[in-house]
Amino acid sequence: MGVVWNPWHGCSKISAGCQNCYVYRRDESIGKDAQIVTKTLSFDLPVRRARNGGYKIATGETVFTCFTSDFLIDKADEWRLDAWQYIKERNDLGFFFITKRIDRFRACIPDDWEGGYNNVTVGCTVENQQMADYRLPIFLSAPIMHKIIICEPILSQINLEQYLNHDIEQVIVGGESGNNARICDYAWVTDIRRQCEVKGVSFGFKQTGARFLKDGRVYRIPRKFQHTQAKKAGIDLHL
Ligand code: SF4
Repeated sequence: MGVVWNPWHGCSKISAGCQNCYVYRRDESIGKDAQIVTKTLSFDLPVRRARNGGYKIATGETVFTCFTSDFLIDKADEWRLDAWQYIKERNDLGFFFITKRIDRFRACIPDDWEGGYNNVTVGCTVENQQMADYRLPIFLSAPIMHKIIICEPILSQINLEQYLNHDIEQVIVGGESGNNARICDYAWVTDIRRQCEVKGVSFGFKQTGARFLKDGRVYRIPRKFQHTQAKKAGIDLHL
């Protein structure tokens, strides 16, 4: 299951994948400005202790980090070193964050990072070919122990083959949710699966999105079925 840790909240849109960002949608619905980045009340969650003196988050958990912002956003620069300290202290947990700002990675790591903390997995988002060709060379050369490529929301066919090597642990693909969702073409999904199979990289189809094109027909998929329908396709690869 895992634990969600949002040390800061709010973000700025930087590329096509951000157009219908769920953080903006959710904040708009409660009259909040998603562009304002603030430290949250759960900033020190990983190191919080229970009454018995042990950590509140149990050993072995996966901590989904910064899912209402981008961990590498510049507006959080003054807080990030403390966050890294918590991540280092909790080397019994696995931390996972997704970023569209991999080009800031080297400017954001702590002095003792070296080849990377072994308990950190980074997902680099690439929503179209342009972003794949810009972000993935940077991602591949970054000192990160565990790397995942995230094509979500996928917005076009993407040729990833040249970027798939054994440093990449998995590729995850998903469509876009929400009323204004752009189409997710199943042919793009299966094409990336084929590339993963050729290169021996694990693949996961996470969600169909709200508008799903298959066999020439666009289906409206309600939110509650977007994940289950993707799983029903049965096309994940565990290599
Ligand atoms: S980077 Fe992520 S959180 Fe930030 S605006 Fe884009 S989609 Fe939203």
